[in-house]
Amino acid sequence: MTLKSKNIETILAEKRVFKPSKKFQQRAHIASMKEYLSLYEKSIKDPEKFWGKVASELTWFKKWSKVLDETEAPFYKWFVNGKTNITVNCLDRHLDTATRNKAAIIWEGEPKDRRTLTYSQLLQEVSLFASALKNLGIQRGDRVAIYLPMIPELAISVLACARIGAVHTVIFAGFSAEAIRDRVLDSESKLVITSDGGWRKGNILPLKQTVDDALHECPCVRHVVVVKRGQGEPFPCHIKEGRDHWYHRIIDDASAKCPAEPMDSEDMLFLLYTSGTTGKPKGIIHTTGGYMVYTYLTSKYVFDLRPEDVYWCTADIGWVTGHSYLVYGPLMNGATVFMYEGAPNWPDWGRFWSMIQDNSISIFYTAPTAIRAFMKWGEEWPNKYDLSSLRLLGTVGESINPEAWMWYHRVIGAEKCPIVDTWWQTETGGIMITPLPGCVPTKPGSATVPFFGVDAAVLSEEGKEVEAGILSIRKPWPGMLRGIYGDKERYKQTYWSKWPGKYFPGDGARKDSDGYFWILGRIDDVVNVAGHRIGTAELESIFVEYPSVAESAVIGIDHEIKGKCLVGFITLKDGVLATEALEKELKEWAGKKIGRFAIPDKIIFSADLPKTRSGKIMRRLLRDIATGRALGNVTTLAESNVVEQLREKYEED
Ligand code: ATP
Ligand code: MG
Repeated sequence: MTLKSKNIETILAEKRVFKPSKKFQQRAHIASMKEYLSLYEKSIKDPEKFWGKVASELTWFKKWSKVLDETEAPFYKWFVNGKTNITVNCLDRHLDTATRNKAAIIWEGEPKDRRTLTYSQLLQEVSLFASALKNLGIQRGDRVAIYLPMIPELAISVLACARIGAVHTVIFAGFSAEAIRDRVLDSESKLVITSDGGWRKGNILPLKQTVDDALHECPCVRHVVVVKRGQGEPFPCHIKEGRDHWYHRIIDDASAKCPAEPMDSEDMLFLLYTSGTTGKPKGIIHTTGGYMVYTYLTSKYVFDLRPEDVYWCTADIGWVTGHSYLVYGPLMNGATVFMYEGAPNWPDWGRFWSMIQDNSISIFYTAPTAIRAFMKWGEEWPNKYDLSSLRLLGTVGESINPEAWMWYHRVIGAEKCPIVDTWWQTETGGIMITPLPGCVPTKPGSATVPFFGVDAAVLSEEGKEVEAGILSIRKPWPGMLRGIYGDKERYKQTYWSKWPGKYFPGDGARKDSDGYFWILGRIDDVVNVAGHRIGTAELESIFVEYPSVAESAVIGIDHEIKGKCLVGFITLKDGVLATEALEKELKEWAGKKIGRFAIPDKIIFSADLPKTRSGKIMRRLLRDIATGRALGNVTTLAESNVVEQLREKYEED
């Protein structure tokens, strides 16, 4: 059953292949494998020519003198000496065209209030707030922290910072005061934008109070701008004289004209902290020109954007997915973006599907964690709604278990929508490995093939190409990170030291005989059982294939005799009882599907698993629990009581 290699073994034998329909293909930007392969080859052979041509489709104040400068590698520079402003490409550029009066953002609040901003209205709002930020003394290069719920002002704030050359650092609005403090201090932010509240599961989050708590220890912050979203209840909003300003007041006094600051290609656009799945979050630096060109092109081709699409990316702008594929990428392409404030299960589990139906959403991009939750809640919820407007689905964030992929394909996509499983990272700025939906046949669980200009390979520790091993990107690409804020050495050490000149993303992967990539999970999570090195993603997918299992996380812990043994954490579907008989069945299932060595010594049923606030399973915390160690960094953990409950359960067993 297993394919041997000295690196990582593969245990999934997924054979299903899905081709895009003729109908989808006919109108796609890239409509044949021949076209993909020929463009891909060009992009790898002559990246400067390829990316130079793409960049020419956008507006620049001054053209670059060289596309790529590698002299100080790994501190690569793209579009050297070019001057531009990304907001000109997101907004101003569309105002001379029919896009001017098209909806840029259609927003729905959790309590079902709505707002639509056309491209010209969005530019007006961005200009007003950008002027207001200048009036508060914010200048190019200053860092601004943004801690807002998913309301239009979040997108406006991001764009307003970019307009004047201030560096935004968005902090997901579910984070604690401690996490805000760490990020504000690390980025030395001068100003914080927040709101007096935000809706989540019918409650108002006390965002301003949390910011106030964080700022006791942040002397660098001079001003706080507060958007009015709450209702003064149940959290009264304290305004600190001289420091705090209501958003609606300061834009009243601001100019509606705010010319875009000409930024150098390599000027910093934003700082964003990684999810913290493996440890302390890193402040990732992205700059202007390369990021702009890369997110523009990936949005256009991966989502195959057409003028009539209504595109919904469910990610919060607090994550890189929200930056690249809710704000910058789609707006540069003149798309209509749908944005939602609240929880997917409010007031019930049909909320997402009702919004797809009512807004005729055609492209839907979400995460495997959400898909597994929908599966757990049952297909009767999506089945209540008309989802026929959908034409393309996407996923990002973790490996998608083939069974979750099939469910997505069948229940949400009605077996007609291609699924783009997109592999990428905060560090990569944009999508790196993905199907192009009009031409690349998909296989459930595989992110398929590299995007243009991405020289992806699977390498051994020594840097040789192998079938299953460590993912690497062997050439720089425009959207790449330019560093870790304040730590040049750590940047070199973390990403460029494994194999000289090649990028190390930290994930395991396998390349099949069709050249398709299968992400096997993080290298840190690879388990070595009785001499077999196994990626967690595949093992977990075996459990998720079992009909009553909703979610699973597998870890390896030390074992006196075997060296390592497996522990499987399992979440069952709604209504399924955790019994000893089921535990036995699951162990037998693993033995049958993979082999006796893959039978976990322990199975722990748990109503939930520890996850980051972006919904990713944190296996390192499970290892801490299983080995009785003190917990590592937990500031990015979504629900702290999950860990405590698991610890108790673990000790009981
Ligand atoms: P940290 O780096 O702080 O530990 P993180 O890696 O979770 O956090 P992100 O940049 O948000 O931070 O996530 C990128 C990671 O998510 C990738 O390295 C990979 O492990 C995983 N990932 C993203 N998309 C996919 C995908 N389509 N398939 C498999 N894994 C994916
Ligand atoms: Mg990471």
